[in-house]
Amino acid sequence: MKPLTYSRATGVHDAVVRVAESPTSSFLAGGTTEVDLIRASVSPSDHLVDINALPLSVVDDLPDGGLHIGALARMSDVARIPAVIERYPAISEALLLGASEQLRNMASMGGNLCQRTRCAYLRDGVSPCNKREPGSGCAALDGFNRGHALLGTSEHCIATHPSDVAVALVAFDAVVRTTGPDGDRAIPADDFFLLPGDTPEIEHPLVHGELIVGIDVPAAPIARRSTYLKFRDRESYEFALVSVAAAVEVEDGVVSDARLALGGVGTKPWRARRAEAVLVGSPPDPATFRRAAAVELEQAVVREHNAFKVELAQRAAVRGLTRSLNGAHR
Ligand SMILES: Cc1cc2nc3c(=O)[nH]c(=O)nc-3n(C[C@H](O)[C@H](O)[C@H](O)COP(=O)(O)OP(=O)(O)OC[C@H]3O[C@@H](n4cnc5c(N)ncnc54)[C@H](O)[C@@H]3O)c2cc1C
Ligand code: SF4
Repeated sequence: MKPLTYSRATGVHDAVVRVAESPTSSFLAGGTTEVDLIRASVSPSDHLVDINALPLSVVDDLPDGGLHIGALARMSDVARIPAVIERYPAISEALLLGASEQLRNMASMGGNLCQRTRCAYLRDGVSPCNKREPGSGCAALDGFNRGHALLGTSEHCIATHPSDVAVALVAFDAVVRTTGPDGDRAIPADDFFLLPGDTPEIEHPLVHGELIVGIDVPAAPIARRSTYLKFRDRESYEFALVSVAAAVEVEDGVVSDARLALGGVGTKPWRARRAEAVLVGSPPDPATFRRAAAVELEQAVVREHNAFKVELAQRAAVRGLTRSLNGAHR
């Protein structure tokens, strides 16, 4: 048994100070990920700083028409807020397709962004895993890699990022707001998730003790047409094999704006910028959608068991874009 200590932060600054003062202190929000990782000896935490009393649960309008989502807002609450459903349906859908209702009632938005990969080799505590023990190797490269990534991989790690809502947030250029020992920061969501490269153990740019206070989602009229689709081995309580956040806008018979991001295929929530570039200016038809998806997946590096995701991701992208075009999400 591992001894743990626990304290409650009384304010944002207090939370930062309490975690920053020891390298093995961590924030505790819903606890749905952190507690599992401590039990599996993946997280080194021996002191948990409970942040649930902090005033970070509010979801509010931003002056530009966007939304601020507090870091402690619960997934189930955010999914059901009318402004989210109307202005960013892909965010609401992504949240409702994640985990289970019980987990979503506990799980916070900040904790969701910080969750770690579900790669079984990370969590088993014994296999070579560069994320758990840098330099030990990667058991997934030649192991059972059916669920692993095709995009953004390195020879040191091929794990996918597991969050659903992060895929939609990346599509809408959301910004993660933090406060830490060195002050406040605004980090674009796309930069918040790091590629594994030579340092897969570093997953985001937060310094120790830096607290996510909220997420700003800018106003984007196209987001009203967005949708989120998730393909997985069973219909609930399962992570994505492939997922897609998609939105298209059409003017004068051609795509005038497009957003496409993929989950389950990248080592980070994957903004499909190459596909978006193909879409804009082209006719909004299945051939264009397929061509755009194919251009994005040209970069895929497949392993023994995950090559099927190349076709699945392309079909998912076409279906998501078609659904947005037809307004089927309304
Ligand atoms: C069985 C199961 C199925 C799941 N399925 C899905 C799924 O399908 N899709 C999906 O997207 N997710 C899924 N999840 C993950 C779930 O969404 C996350 O566990 C949850 O969002 C984490 O939030 P939390 O508040 O419980 O975080 P915690 O467990 O409290 O914290 C997680 C990590 O984030 C840090 N942290 C928490 N809040 C902050 C903050 N404000 N600032 C800085 N660091 C912080 C903690 O220190 C810790 O390291 C699943 C989880 C489980 C257990
Ligand atoms: S894919 Fe990444 S998380 Fe999984 S074993 Fe390899 S290094 Fe570890």
